[in-house]
Amino acid sequence: MANRPRIVLLGRQGSGKGTQSARLAAHLGVPHVSTGDLFRTAVRDGTALGRRVGDILDDGGLVPDDMVIEVVREHAARRGLDAGGYVLDGFPRTVVQAEAYFGTDAALTQAGHRPDVAVELDVPAELVLARLAARRVCPVDGWTTTVEDPTVEAVRCPDGHLAVQRPDDTPEAIGRRLALYEVETGPLGPWFAAHGLLARVDGTGDPDVVFQRILDELEPFLDRSPATTG
Ligand code: AMP
Repeated sequence: MANRPRIVLLGRQGSGKGTQSARLAAHLGVPHVSTGDLFRTAVRDGTALGRRVGDILDDGGLVPDDMVIEVVREHAARRGLDAGGYVLDGFPRTVVQAEAYFGTDAALTQAGHRPDVAVELDVPAELVLARLAARRVCPVDGWTTTVEDPTVEAVRCPDGHLAVQRPDDTPEAIGRRLALYEVETGPLGPWFAAHGLLARVDGTGDPDVVFQRILDELEPFLDRSPATTG
C-alpha cells in the first residue's frame, strides 16, 4: 500500500465527508485538511482572510478560486503535505481549483500534488437535507452530532459547551450550497474519472459500514500508486 496516501474526498454537504475524512486521515496516519475548517478558523480569529470570507461562508457561497488555491498552497507547503500524504476535505470544489492545484496534464504529475484517488461519497440530495437540518456543531472544539428532533436548537458537547447549528446550515444557505455543489463541484467526479482516479462509494447507512466501504474501494488505488510507494 502507498506509504503516505494522498486522498481527495468528494461529496455533497451532509454526505458525511467531514466525519469520514477525519477518520480516514487518523486511520492512515496522514493530515486531514478541511478548507472549510481553515476558513472558519480564520473567521473566528478575525484574520484578514477571515474578514474577507465571513459573509461568503454564512451565505453558503463559494470562496473565490484564487483565494482558495492560495490558502491551500500555503497550507500544503507549511505542513509538507505532498511528502506526508493527505486527506483533502472540501478541496477542490471546482474544476478550476483542481486544474490549478493538480495540473492539466493527463497524468497529473506536472504540478507535483497528484492524488492517488478521489473518493466520491454518494448520498442523495433528499437525505442530506434532513442530515444538515439536524446537524449541531460545537463552536469551541468542532464536535459534531445529529439531533433526533431538528427543532432542537442546541445540545451540549461532551465538554459541556453548547453545540449549535452552523450559520450556513439554515434552509436558505443549505439550498444555495447544494445548488452550487451540483453546478460547480459535480463536474469533478467526471474530471477525476477521466484521469483514472475516481472511486465512488455509497455513503448511505451506518457510518462504520460506510468507512469500511471506503477502505475497500481505496485499496486497489493505493496498491497501484507509483507516486507514493516506497
Ligand atoms: P465545508 O465545511 O467544506 O462545508 O465548507 C464551508 C464553506 O467554506 C463552504 O460553504 C464555502 O463557503 C467555503 N469553502 C470551503 N472549501 C471551499 C473551496 N474549496 N472552494 C470555495 N469555497 C470553499
